Amino acid sequence: MVKDFLRSSKLTGIAEISAATGVDSERIINFIKEGRLVLTTPISGVEFKCERCGNLILSGRFCSECAKNLSQELRDNISFESKSGSGMLSRDTIKKKHGSED
Ligand SMILES: [Zn+2]
Repeated sequence: MVKDFLRSSKLTGIAEISAATGVDSERIINFIKEGRLVLTTPISGVEFKCERCGNLILSGRFCSECAKNLSQELRDNISFESKSGSGMLSRDTIKKKHGSED
């Protein structure tokens, strides 16, 4: 319902969306923060800022640049952890093998 309204209307403020849709402005803001509602233009009265760099964004918690960086960092961390983890494991296995052979 809200989505249809946003798509078909030119909005100027969160209060207008709230009045037109009957949805609390606070809930609308939550929708946008959760990424369930994506604005195509900024609306007055509400500012969404990237939690990482502070850039103004239209929805969600991070700007597209930070979202990209964050997912990249996440991937790097995951691959790094699995690499060092397997490295330690193999070193340990070699030590154990040598120990039992001696
Ligand atoms: Zn950012």
